[in-house]
Amino acid sequence: MAKFKFFYLLLFCFISFQGISGKMKVVFRYDDFILKTDKVNEQVVRTFQDNHIPLVLGVIPCDSNENFILEKPYLFLPVLKTGLKNNSIEIALHGLTHQQIVRGEFDGISMTEQNRRIQKGKSFLDSVFQTNIKTFIPPFNSYDKNTLQVLVNNRFTVISSALCFGQSTVNAELQYAPETIENFKELIPVLTRNRNRNGVVIVMFHDYTFKKNYSISELQTVLESVNKLDFVTCTTFNKLGEGSEQLDERRINANLESNLLSKKLKLNAVIQTTVFASTIRIVNLIAYLLLSVFFYFLTYLIFSKNKKIRTYRHAICLLMVIVPTGLFVWFHVLTPMVLLAFAVSLSVMVSLFSKFK
Ligand SMILES: [Zn+2]
Repeated sequence: MAKFKFFYLLLFCFISFQGISGKMKVVFRYDDFILKTDKVNEQVVRTFQDNHIPLVLGVIPCDSNENFILEKPYLFLPVLKTGLKNNSIEIALHGLTHQQIVRGEFDGISMTEQNRRIQKGKSFLDSVFQTNIKTFIPPFNSYDKNTLQVLVNNRFTVISSALCFGQSTVNAELQYAPETIENFKELIPVLTRNRNRNGVVIVMFHDYTFKKNYSISELQTVLESVNKLDFVTCTTFNKLGEGSEQLDERRINANLESNLLSKKLKLNAVIQTTVFASTIRIVNLIAYLLLSVFFYFLTYLIFSKNKKIRTYRHAICLLMVIVPTGLFVWFHVLTPMVLLAFAVSLSVMVSLFSKFK
């Protein structure tokens, strides 16, 4: 009994500790920024500065003819330079021309060409801002393994793309900071739900966000609300890795599966810690294994009554088909209801096949 008490005490301490240490980090990433007078761009930057919240600008350095974009005179430039100095702004490289070449501007093109584009864009922005840009945002959230090596060769430390399958995260010298939210309206609910966790939220938006479905005054309201949340720290990509868990391959992979449990517990839109995200995946796997086995027994009972499954061989075949298919299909493609329909129709097909054989 004493042992159990000790266990509960430990568990209580663990949960309390998790609660106290809960610290959400938020990065705002404003893509497709160009160094030309633009009323919306200037209003966005000023709104963030008024609220003392840092903003990352994904700057496109060149037009489609590879001419550098820098209006003369660009009257807003001193504001950006001051912001860079006092850390209210981070400048990130957002491609060179932001054109579709193969798949986006970088994925699928030669390493030499990728290197040329990244070097040209970086050296221009470095000289305009007298800085050393360390964050790369691939246009269209699209890049390949070669991009990562080129980034390391050019002393980048962070890549911010999107949380999606098939994107390489193999280079251990880079931090991976994929965007997790594209709609401001989701931000406060997501942060509030995750108030006791140590996660990272990356909000990505464009100037057309404000031309289409959102206004600057709504942005102001959201930023004011963020500032009221004492468990939230707003930061930049450069500072994200400081003093907290790394955004490495393990962490991104652990967070990649948007599984049933993540949806039920509403954990999406946050890069959770590696341990937490891995635990959720394992528990989800067990739940699905149990669910698949349950469907199997259900199907077996129905068809064995009709004497359509006569031998153990049939039963084992059915098991071998349903359980792994159920798990695989759930993890990568389908929603639970579609999976259920799929498992049932597959069982029917297998048992009919067995009967005719
Ligand atoms: Zn873009």
